[in-house]
Amino acid sequence: NSPVRPPPTPSPLRFSKFFQSNMRILITGGAGFIGSHLVDKLMENEKNEVIVADNYFTGSKDNLKKWIGHPRFELIRHDVTEPLLIEVDQIYHLACPASPIFYKYNPVKTIKTNVIGTLNMLGLAKRVGARILLTSTSEVYGDPLVHPQDESYWGNVNPIGVRSCYDEGKRVAETLMFDYHRQHGIEIRIARIFNTYGPRMNIDDGRVVSNFIAQAIRGESLTVQAPGTQTRSFCYVSDMVDGLIRLMQGENTGPINIGNPGEFTMLELAENVKELINPEVEIAMVENTPDDPRQRKPDITKAKELLGWEPKIKLRDGLPLMEEDFRLRLGVARKN
Ligand code: NAD
Ligand code: UDP
Ligand code: UDP
Repeated sequence: NSPVRPPPTPSPLRFSKFFQSNMRILITGGAGFIGSHLVDKLMENEKNEVIVADNYFTGSKDNLKKWIGHPRFELIRHDVTEPLLIEVDQIYHLACPASPIFYKYNPVKTIKTNVIGTLNMLGLAKRVGARILLTSTSEVYGDPLVHPQDESYWGNVNPIGVRSCYDEGKRVAETLMFDYHRQHGIEIRIARIFNTYGPRMNIDDGRVVSNFIAQAIRGESLTVQAPGTQTRSFCYVSDMVDGLIRLMQGENTGPINIGNPGEFTMLELAENVKELINPEVEIAMVENTPDDPRQRKPDITKAKELLGWEPKIKLRDGLPLMEEDFRLRLGVARKN
């Protein structure tokens, strides 16, 4: 016996259709690492107007400096845990700290950002009839018991651990997305993003690729957290942005994994960084943090079939592109 549900309320007309204007796109968290690259890509299309809402917790205006003052661009200091009343056609909802040291810094705030922030963006989507994309995460799979992870896997997540504010927060955010879709007919898209790297990552944000590259450039030891055999699969940011836009523009709600299936142990990553950036540095084994997932690799069959997407940039090609940006920001030129 199927539950009785009220019919979805019809969506209001899309803003752009109503006013015959450009596509107006909101990016929450657009001053951050992935968000600012997404802004760059969307601004290339002259029919897009881009609005960024960000509280600058981990992002910065610097990432968007080339767009400030542009007639099709607007930047709002706004915390998504507060309601936002604007008129838009599409919402890319990225706002949320992504690096463990930042999301663990104020875990209650991280949960509010994921839950209340996503609720507010869904309320906004409902009011104006916008399509909304959530950047969820591979962390919803927790310490996965199946490998590689496909979207049908429900995950192995500790609900009371120090990472839970982030991974359980994103799981509730996904639930809210589907409930607004079923209950109110909102057009939703969910991307499950796997580890992403590239220029503009915070130099001291604590994630492994940024740590190793900054350490190699500064001539410090590369800190591999024990045991070093844990794996991750790293996607270059331009591939990620391409996948997110395809998902938004396509007809599938997801969730869809977006990531690069090339899997490396942390020791292998350290060896690659050492070889490519500074062969003189040492690799040091240091203590790990609790609940560190032991392996992670996306199954991207769905992304390939439904979005025609797969990553193009291999780790060994992406690392030097990131090195260039880090050298500029650290003010350390390459020897030779
Ligand atoms: P980031 O920390 O660089 O960007 C997050 C942005 O959100 C920042 O600009 C920050 O200031 C803003 N923000 C945080 N809390 C906010 C709030 N309450 N209100 C408004 N703005 C707020 O991180 P990123 O790597 O660009 O990640 C972007 C999104 O992708 C996040 O949702 C993250 O969970 C997801 N994701 C990223 C990765 C990755 O490897 N980078 C992996 C999985 C998922
Ligand atoms: N909301 C928002 N912008 C809008 C519309 C709604 O931020 O344009 C917020 C609103 O404040 C509420 C949340 O989104 O907290 C959910 O809104 P919805 O209308 O779905 O629920 P209700 O307001 O009935 O609780
Ligand atoms: N890690 C590491 N050295 C560092 C930072 C992280 O070996 O300086 C490891 C960490 O233990 C984890 C992996 O790198 O196994 C990825 O960590 P990160 O914080 O980048 O992302 P996440 O755990 O969210 O995938």
